[in-house]
Amino acid sequence: MVERTRRVGKKLPRKKRKARLRNKNLRRSKTELEHFAHIASHELQEPLRIVKGYLELFKARYHGKLDFEADDFIAYALEGTVRMERLIADLLLYARVGTEAGNIQSTDCEAVFDLALRNLGVNMDGQCGLVTHDPLPVVRAAEPQLVQVFQNLISNGIKFHGKERPSIHVSAKRKGGEWLFSVRDNGIGIDPKDAERIFAMFQRLHGVDQYPGTGIGLALCKKIVERHGGRIWVESRAGHGATFYFTLPERG
Ligand code: ADP
Repeated sequence: MVERTRRVGKKLPRKKRKARLRNKNLRRSKTELEHFAHIASHELQEPLRIVKGYLELFKARYHGKLDFEADDFIAYALEGTVRMERLIADLLLYARVGTEAGNIQSTDCEAVFDLALRNLGVNMDGQCGLVTHDPLPVVRAAEPQLVQVFQNLISNGIKFHGKERPSIHVSAKRKGGEWLFSVRDNGIGIDPKDAERIFAMFQRLHGVDQYPGTGIGLALCKKIVERHGGRIWVESRAGHGATFYFTLPERG
């Protein structure tokens, strides 16, 4: 059916019709891809559980009974399954942001901050580093998704620490109809040339032997923040800590 403008029933110009169709197709393939990622990662969990289970059984029964190389091989294989488990779990989280809309409601960011620390197992005694915050606002957001954003940014601040004990500070201020949040750390920092690419999936600046991780955390933060109508970016210099900023509209 030919698309018409709603008000006067006039036929839309050909260029506009094409652009609308292209957008519609893009939206559909994005949804399909998210659905596929969701199902694929979910389905992968089961065979992985079997592989991991039998590797553990093998280790329990034969550790120290074969040659010393065999023990190493089995340890590497088990490490691989643990890493794969984390990747699948993170991929599932990523896909869910698109497939499960999440309830946008009035959300107290101080409660979000506390929950993020609890999930990370960070105590306020400062043993894992110091994580502090200014008064945080109540915003319109899907609470579990906002917890993910806080959690990822704070855990990165702790993980990518330098020689000093990690110190992370979270704050928020009103700016031009938006809330501007910042998560500042005193860690190893990021070269400005990498500031954009770290928000893409699987983009990591270090090997897993140096710092563990899947490279999905920041892509997940970006997806969540953008879904809420905000933006996310980092300001940093290598060796001088990093400050991650994100915005949320005041009326989400
Ligand atoms: P992961 O932490 O699993 O590696 P992320 O998507 O959270 O994945 O981060 C991508 C990369 O960005 C990290 O591997 C790291 O190189 C860099 N990065 C993220 N946060 C920080 C930070 N606070 N300080 C320094 N580098 C960071």
